[in-house]
Amino acid sequence: MFYMLFLSSCTKRDRIFTESRTLMYTSCTITVVSPSEKTAGEAIEAGFARIERLEKLLNFFSPDSEITAINRASGRSPVKVSKETLVAIAKAVEIADYTNGAFDPTIAPVIRLWGFSGKSQESPIPSADKIKDALRFVDYRKIKINMSASEVFLEKKGMELDLGGIAKGYAADMAIEAIKTKGIKAALVAIAGDIKGFGLKPDLKPWRVGIQNPRLSDDNPPHPPFTKGGMGGLSEEDIFASLYLKDKAISTSGDYQRFFMKDGKRYHHIIDPRKGYSASDVISVSVISSDGYMADGLSTGIFVLGREKGIRLLESMGLNGIIVDSNKEIFITEDLKGEVDIEKTL
Ligand code: AMP
Ligand code: MG
Repeated sequence: MFYMLFLSSCTKRDRIFTESRTLMYTSCTITVVSPSEKTAGEAIEAGFARIERLEKLLNFFSPDSEITAINRASGRSPVKVSKETLVAIAKAVEIADYTNGAFDPTIAPVIRLWGFSGKSQESPIPSADKIKDALRFVDYRKIKINMSASEVFLEKKGMELDLGGIAKGYAADMAIEAIKTKGIKAALVAIAGDIKGFGLKPDLKPWRVGIQNPRLSDDNPPHPPFTKGGMGGLSEEDIFASLYLKDKAISTSGDYQRFFMKDGKRYHHIIDPRKGYSASDVISVSVISSDGYMADGLSTGIFVLGREKGIRLLESMGLNGIIVDSNKEIFITEDLKGEVDIEKTL
């Protein structure tokens, strides 16, 4: 007994190691808990390598990605892709089913029209005719996945896949898997507003994360992610709520991430696939789930569904979330009430 106590007092203490890189066009931060700097470094490297690989495979803007190969072959032929791409697309379709098409990974032709797909954020408002025309190519039920052949086919020529609404959460899942293989007991991966954590910090508390205030100022610029405690970029003044993340993922979708203002109206990057215009019932949606892809896909889909249907969907799925509606009123699912600290009213 005495010997064991002696041994444990000699054990190196757990420390927190953190590193940020720009990947997936945003700031990614990986934090791991380990007694060894070497192990921590290897785990962080493994996590970033996974995110980088997914970026290569899923990048809508890259001519060399598997997503682009599928898009180019729409209406012509199935395309053989990696397991990771296949699974990511299958998960996107799963979210589309859950949200009854409010999340639709074939929304790309409409996003292109609005100009939210490129570097420029402001473009003329497209005509109703053009929007109607682009909507003809939006239908996730026309994505055909052949699991055994590892092939994907978009049935209609002109269809395009864009996994922008789910890729970061999925990448956080994959990064956490990679980190775990290095024997790490606790880590947090934050890719913009898509955050996944597991284990306890050296102070034996779960990770605490904040949710960005969706209205920092009228022209608030997009912000990198952060967690309370100084990581990532945002400060305490930038958040409106915080909570403990216990072996879970949280994703936030907001109308402040990519947008332009015209005649006092906000046009942003989350598009209602039934209408072809930015969804406007809510301004911020956060979803908590064990899976990053689920939190990410649902936060985007629920942004489109709106407050009432969104809360109903979360509760029917046994999931939790926080929604800020267009009146800046905050709604929290029943089970989460009492676990969220509202730091300021909006
Ligand atoms: P997020 O920040 O996760 O909410 O994702 C926003 C991104 O998802 C946009 O930049 C688009 O690439 C894509 N997107 C926009 N509207 C939809 C939609 N209704 N369904 C699926 N993806 C969407
Ligand atoms: Mg999302």
